[in-house]
Amino acid sequence: MKSKNRTVDETDNLIDTGPIPFNERLSYDKLTFFYLSLPITLFGQMFGALLLSALQIGSVDLYSIGIWLLVSFVMFSYRFYHYYVFRNESEYNKLEDARLWLHRYYTNVLISGMVWGSSAILIFPEDNLIHQMTVMLFLLTIGFTSMGVLASKRDLLLAFVLVTFLPLVLRLFFLEGEIYLNIAYIVVALMLIVLLISNYYGKVINSSLDNHLHFITIRHSHEKLKERFFSLFERAPVGIYYYNAGLVLQDINEQFKIMNKMGYKKDLIGQDLHATKNREIVDAHEKVFWNQTGNYRGPFETLYGENIIYVDLSTVPMLDSDGKVTGGIAIVNDITDEVTAKEEMVRSAYYDMLTEIPNRTLLMDKLENLIARDMTGLQYAALLFIDIDNFKKVNDSFGHNVGDTVIRQVAYKIDNVIGKSETIARIGGDKFVVLIPLLSSDEDQARHNALDYASKIKGSFARPLKTAGEDYHLTLSIGIVLFNSAEASAYDILKRSETAMYEAKTSGRNTIRFYKHEMGAHAQEQLTIANNIHKTIEENAFDIYYQPQLDVQSGRIIGAEALIRWFRPDTGPVSPEIFIAIAEESGLIIKLEEWIFDRVLSEMKSLSVSMNGFVLEHIAINVSATHFLKPRFVEKFMLLVKKHQVQPEWIELELTESGIMHSMHDAITKIEELKQFGITFSIDDFGTGYSSFAYLKRLPVNVIKIDQAFVLNMDQDQGDAMIVESIVTIGQKFNLKVLAEGVENLQTLEHLKQAKCDYYQGFYAYKPMPMSEFGQIVTTTSL
Ligand code: C2E
Ligand code: CA
Ligand code: CA
Repeated sequence: MKSKNRTVDETDNLIDTGPIPFNERLSYDKLTFFYLSLPITLFGQMFGALLLSALQIGSVDLYSIGIWLLVSFVMFSYRFYHYYVFRNESEYNKLEDARLWLHRYYTNVLISGMVWGSSAILIFPEDNLIHQMTVMLFLLTIGFTSMGVLASKRDLLLAFVLVTFLPLVLRLFFLEGEIYLNIAYIVVALMLIVLLISNYYGKVINSSLDNHLHFITIRHSHEKLKERFFSLFERAPVGIYYYNAGLVLQDINEQFKIMNKMGYKKDLIGQDLHATKNREIVDAHEKVFWNQTGNYRGPFETLYGENIIYVDLSTVPMLDSDGKVTGGIAIVNDITDEVTAKEEMVRSAYYDMLTEIPNRTLLMDKLENLIARDMTGLQYAALLFIDIDNFKKVNDSFGHNVGDTVIRQVAYKIDNVIGKSETIARIGGDKFVVLIPLLSSDEDQARHNALDYASKIKGSFARPLKTAGEDYHLTLSIGIVLFNSAEASAYDILKRSETAMYEAKTSGRNTIRFYKHEMGAHAQEQLTIANNIHKTIEENAFDIYYQPQLDVQSGRIIGAEALIRWFRPDTGPVSPEIFIAIAEESGLIIKLEEWIFDRVLSEMKSLSVSMNGFVLEHIAINVSATHFLKPRFVEKFMLLVKKHQVQPEWIELELTESGIMHSMHDAITKIEELKQFGITFSIDDFGTGYSSFAYLKRLPVNVIKIDQAFVLNMDQDQGDAMIVESIVTIGQKFNLKVLAEGVENLQTLEHLKQAKCDYYQGFYAYKPMPMSEFGQIVTTTSL
């Protein structure tokens, strides 16, 4: 605070950043102006006072001179003291108390004026003109010199002039002699001149102060503007940078530094934007030199380092004062999050969440593109429709988590088999599709290649999957459609492959089928069947036939197997082999079997009534595993048994081994529960599929039914005969009754007799028949 410049600078700072209102500045400026000139003025005046006193010695008594000098020195000391305090005051306080200091100053000036004025009374001789003139000269000098200081404050000047000169003027008026009156007039005139000149001078000073103030105001607002712009540039939440005509970065803001993951701005400033390999980005920057704005949206390789962000970038020309483009300003928005979110959306729209392979939408896109662009009739392409056999059972018995794992494993395995140009997609539950765009121009070759693909896929499941800690043998049904022209739509092609897959399913699963045109009709037929099953249940239009089961040795009828019959009025009889499979696939089996149970149990009741008791060992009813494994099967079944007042002992339930093998635990529990009531169980189609004696050991069943496939040919085929014999032996070992199905001739029956098979069933004895007929036969034979 020693030098003027620093004072002003710091004060500006205080005004700019501190809480001082701007109008305080005016008082402060005047104040500085006044106090700065104070020491010189005071020293001058002190010297003047001493000189005046010295000059008056002799003409005025020393006592008066002493008093005046004393008063003067008290006044000077007081003013020096104030000057001293002011100087040592902090800038901030000076500013805050500017008005107070100003008033203090004014008061001091008036006191000083009064002290000087008093000289006209205290050291003004009565008669010595020379000495009187000396006092006047001094007073006028003081008046003129103060004029410079007080000029800017008119009222103060007036007060000062009055207190300084009025005593003199009064004194002069009261002195005797014409001359004094004249001098008084001259003094008054001089007073007026002082006032007039000061007034003018004051205007000049005031306007210069105003100018100074104006300048400060401008500087102030300029700085505010600068600050605002700086905040905008530096603290903006977007990246901003300047570049010159050579696309070299001139300055960057904080955000852009952060976007580039840099620690220091200086590492980026001076970078050449040409370094980016992206031509579009360079173009967007160069546009400004045509006085246009540039835009770019897309990936942006950060200037240092390899990571890529997504940006929305705009450039505007930067002009110099002549309006010439000297470079550009770029504003960069980091839209990485937005883009990744969108990418994620696209991913979930085109990819299957569970397996992360393409979904139906993407597959159809690819298929449509292939058909629209590349189908010239020259090259064959293929679509493979893959469905996991009995997948429902995996879900039902292991739960959905395991089901999901299996689906993932299957996707992974198929994906490993196919090549780069092929597409695998999951288009629903356990359904996958593989698109093979290029096979061969020769149809036979294409067929051969497609079959190769399908076999490879199937082959990759030869080894069991590890599922929930157990080995799980999984098989696939695959439908293939070949196409080489745009004759069919993508939808049709997919449908055809699906039809072929269903064909594979109905031909016993675990197979591959090519699509043939006849299949279209067949698939339609299947759909009609499913619809009709439902209708037929409602109409109560199914029939139950009973096929007698006989004792091999005695030929006595021991029971019967209930078999469903469907005679469609429009097309004639439909084989249960066909519609039971469809009912299982569509879930209709539950309703259908509930209908069957209801009917069979009611007919059993009638039979027992008509015969005065139940003379047979049992009536066997087929139960599909899907139904059996449903929760609450036991309760529901027992409710029906109660409803029809049938003895549970009369009922035998037939389960297929393959159906229940994946849910052994659940199946065993249910079998055991039902056995508690007296219901018996048989294993149907024994010897086919998964047949394993290990299961047999665990299953608490009563009867094994040897599949007719072995029985039908056992009179000709030694191998089949041996299988039948072994099954009989094993059955005996496990303490189970063995029943042979499909006995069509006497030789077979004789063979079974030798093998000590317990029961049989077959066309040789009886074909399945309605209850009315069966009841009659039972009555006559048991008589
Ligand atoms: P399945 O349980 O093995 O039934 C025996 C099948 O063999 C019956 O065919 C029967 O008519 C036939 N059959 C009986 N003796 C002979 C013979 O000496 N020679 C020949 N070639 N065949 C004989 P069907 O009635 O056509 O039933 C076929 C399959 O449909 C059944 O095989 C069974 O799996 C299913 N099915 C039939 N009725 C029902 C039912 O009520 N419920 C359930 N869940 N499935 C049923
Ligand atoms: Ca059966
Ligand atoms: Ca059977």
